Amino acid sequence: MSDPATGVGQATTMRTHLCGRLDASHVGSRVRVCGWVAKRREHGEHLAFVDLRDHTGIVQCVVPGTVDVRSEYVVAVSGTVRHRPVGTTNPDLATGEVELGDCEVEVLSVAEPPPFAVDDRVDADEAVRLRYRYVDLRRPRMQRNLRLRATVLGALRASMDAQGFCEVETPLLWAPTPEGAREFAVPSRLHHGSFYVLPQSPQLAKQLLMVAGMDRYYQVARCLRDEDLRADRQFEFTQLDLEASFVGQDDVLAAVSAAVTRAVEAVTGEPVPPVERMTWAEALDRFGTDKPDLRFGMELRDLSEVFAGTEVKAFAAPTVKALVVEGGASTSRSRLDAWTDRAKALGAKGLAWFRVGEGGTLDSPLDRFLSDGERSGLVSATDAAAGDLVLVVADEHRTACTVLGALRVEIGGRPVGEGAFRYVWVVDFPLFDGMDDEGRPQAAHHPFTMPHPDDLDLLESDPLAVRSQAYDLVLNGWELGSGSVRIHRADIQGRVFRALGISDEEAEARFGFLTGAFRAGAPPHAGFAVGVDRLVAILAGEENIREVIAFPKTQSGADPMTGAPRPLAPGTLTTLGLRALPPPS
Ligand code: ASP
Repeated sequence: MSDPATGVGQATTMRTHLCGRLDASHVGSRVRVCGWVAKRREHGEHLAFVDLRDHTGIVQCVVPGTVDVRSEYVVAVSGTVRHRPVGTTNPDLATGEVELGDCEVEVLSVAEPPPFAVDDRVDADEAVRLRYRYVDLRRPRMQRNLRLRATVLGALRASMDAQGFCEVETPLLWAPTPEGAREFAVPSRLHHGSFYVLPQSPQLAKQLLMVAGMDRYYQVARCLRDEDLRADRQFEFTQLDLEASFVGQDDVLAAVSAAVTRAVEAVTGEPVPPVERMTWAEALDRFGTDKPDLRFGMELRDLSEVFAGTEVKAFAAPTVKALVVEGGASTSRSRLDAWTDRAKALGAKGLAWFRVGEGGTLDSPLDRFLSDGERSGLVSATDAAAGDLVLVVADEHRTACTVLGALRVEIGGRPVGEGAFRYVWVVDFPLFDGMDDEGRPQAAHHPFTMPHPDDLDLLESDPLAVRSQAYDLVLNGWELGSGSVRIHRADIQGRVFRALGISDEEAEARFGFLTGAFRAGAPPHAGFAVGVDRLVAILAGEENIREVIAFPKTQSGADPMTGAPRPLAPGTLTTLGLRALPPPS
């Protein structure tokens, strides 16, 4: 196999070397390189310069006479490697000490002028980039991202193999599974009116593989979810999906840590320190989120005791939480108003703010309503110093935490690539995540997650208090993946389905195959799925996972290159037993 870093093995019948790998050690050799014309300059009638680009970089070719090539023509250049004349070396280029002299240029393909310059410094509109993705991917940044992705996938696979996991492919044409996302449906030609569903994840398939005795399974799995797209979400994405039998939470955390560590080390060359662990309740309380970004402090402070017996109506709530913005006292009024609007949009009734002055004095519209004890309590409980700003939300515990947690990231957050990689395991998630409109609990992870053994008795009496054996891996504020210990007993699965408002009949109709499998002898099992796109994006310093996916969709779910999604020909619809409604006007 070839090695993209060294170019070993990449000599072919068409070329002897790669452009970006030529250096002073090749001086004197006659070589032949192939690639795309990055730039062409003429020096009078006697000399032309062609910068030739392949996936390894650019080399300057000096051609006697003129040469009839333009940007993005595909050419083969034969030339002699020589030192560049004194004063013309280019330290920005890996090949900047050398050039090819006496070049002969053979045009392999002509090219239309590119829709945008193939240059990392040139910005093009997203839709245009995706329309001409094959040109966009020629850019060094995109080449680097896709290769980094391959390195990550290779390392993840190597780690799973080394840990005794067996790669198994599971079907893309599958049945609905309740993992919370809207699913893509595929009409059946042979069974008109019936549909397959593209898997949101191989969740049930991998659990069935455990019942089947595979013991340790993994798959680099494509998952499909028909959800609104955003920076960290595409319809299709890739997970390192895994499951193991006769294991508990700690075994899964260790296996995933090993795989992720290997991938990160393969990219950064830096060892990854042991991943710390935090309960969901602690993450919420300290950082206002189950995805804490630990690259910076600004931990939430609790003022509930300070305001326990308050006369101030705005603070009469079960929980009063504070966020200290260091040096934030000079924040403008319009900025504070914008943060207040933001807090309200996030579900708070309001946002109180206090500018801290010398000697613990407070400047705030609410200051005159506070008692002396509350005033000093606010300053001491937050450790605020003169010049700081204290933001306060009083509400139900979860709302107070999450609103300030969001403001913490918006005010103090770091760009993706900045700072160290800070991993954290968040464990002990609740089993249910609030109630739906009809008063039924919603599964926080998915309905196949095992309740915490100490809370099993609460399943019927106080479902929202039940903790689960679910865990997330979080990196720099991004959820890198989640997993859980699974239910492997039909009786407990039945109780959880019932708690979710799924009747026994419905459960039998939809998941009878799973509970049936449990009755065939199911080992205790647990698993996880790592979001590969997010991991690669963070390692590449990219804000949007589209930058690490070869052919992503736009924000509106379209592919400007192929035109997908597109209407089907009427004949095809008939074959599938479908009739399309006119698009909504
Ligand atoms: N199937 C889950 C997901 O896609 C991961 C897991 O529980 O293993 O989020």
